Amino acid sequence: MTQPKVDPSKTPFLEKLCGHLKTVHMHRSLVREHCFKCGLYKQGLTHDLTKYAFGELIPSIRYYQGYRSPYPYEKELKGYSMGWLRHKGRNPHHWEFWYDTLGGKWQPIAMPDIYLAESVCDRIAACKTYNKEKYTDRDALNYFLNKPDKEYMHPLTAQKMEKILRMVAEQGEDRAFAYIKDCIQNHKPI
Ligand SMILES: [Zn+2]
Repeated sequence: MTQPKVDPSKTPFLEKLCGHLKTVHMHRSLVREHCFKCGLYKQGLTHDLTKYAFGELIPSIRYYQGYRSPYPYEKELKGYSMGWLRHKGRNPHHWEFWYDTLGGKWQPIAMPDIYLAESVCDRIAACKTYNKEKYTDRDALNYFLNKPDKEYMHPLTAQKMEKILRMVAEQGEDRAFAYIKDCIQNHKPI
């Protein structure tokens, strides 16, 4: 377990509120920019709006550290993150949203392409926000490859996600966003 560099209980509430709102605002503007390039206008405008709801805002301020998402810190302390559980349950751009019982068995469901695309936009934005000037086009792919998440996603979701993130790493994000836009507008699978 990594030792937190910032103890939120020692930071004034207003400082955490402003810091968190700034991070959410910056993240949403980046996701909006990416989504618009994919032709996903409604999703670009509404991405992560639930972060302003009290149920998500309050835990995010309480566990705000600034250098990473508040969710892992909340998990380290409590064993679960109420903010995250609420967020992923309301936002179909997270693959964890697409998990349900089918025929009595818990299993992943393949993400529809528009949400998969929003998820890619989200991942790239998150890497840019947290890695700042160290960000490179390979970051989102490396994050994906180094995490066990892909083993729990629907295989089709994992395959499409890797395909797009590889495209971002090797050909740049604009090429990947143009590809997504073409697929979605012409009703072709990603
Ligand atoms: Zn989200």
